[in-house]
Amino acid sequence: MQDTFRHKGLRKKLVEELQAKGIHQPAVLKAMLAVPRHLFVDKTFEHLAYKDIALRIDANQTISQPYTVAYQTELLAVESGMKVLEIGTGSGYQAAILHAMEASVYTVERHAILHQKASKQFVFLGYEAIQSYHQDGFEGLANEAPFDRIIVTAAAPEIPKALVAQLKNKGRMVVPVNKSKTSQHMLLIQKEGDKTLMVEGADFVFVPMLKGIESETGTALKRLNK
Ligand code: SAH
Repeated sequence: MQDTFRHKGLRKKLVEELQAKGIHQPAVLKAMLAVPRHLFVDKTFEHLAYKDIALRIDANQTISQPYTVAYQTELLAVESGMKVLEIGTGSGYQAAILHAMEASVYTVERHAILHQKASKQFVFLGYEAIQSYHQDGFEGLANEAPFDRIIVTAAAPEIPKALVAQLKNKGRMVVPVNKSKTSQHMLLIQKEGDKTLMVEGADFVFVPMLKGIESETGTALKRLNK
């Protein structure tokens, strides 16, 4: 699959839609205009890639809705050269957006199949600078810490303590935390010495953040899903 003029046109429309919904940071809009979202979804969903909706990916997970990606990325306030950790690689799209904003990106996924697919896609698209790991995101990435920014893209039961510990002083973390059984509120956490400041954002719906890793391959997964 390629990135054609038609795709670029659809992307422009999507970005205009996001602007109308309140997304305004130029760096975020520029990245969303640049990254070919249709190359992060299954071929069968290609025609839906530039609709503002979440789509199913492997392992019963989802690629977040573009508005959600833009909202989280704006709250994160990423600047060029920052070291950013993402928990929940999924399709790899959010990591690609952070890469397009010139961040130094580390991303962690618990499902082997998603980790493998996203890693391949990063190389295919020339985003090989993105470092991806098949690990449990609850533990963060101690060897690479501290980070300027941490973004969690799955619903956390509570603020993951290990992640707060891996933030730099004045660093920011954006994490959707369970509000009810079916929805999360977005939290923006800023580290100030021993303290953390917290601001609550809008409500969203994410797939759950789960402990441990899954090592199944594509074929084994199909079996499991039957
Ligand atoms: N950022 C992704 C969104 C994927 S959905 C994208 O742009 O496509 C959230 C992802 O978080 C899922 O792939 C899920 O498997 C992953 N996840 C859930 N719990 C996790 C954990 N403890 N560690 C790492 N990844 C996790």
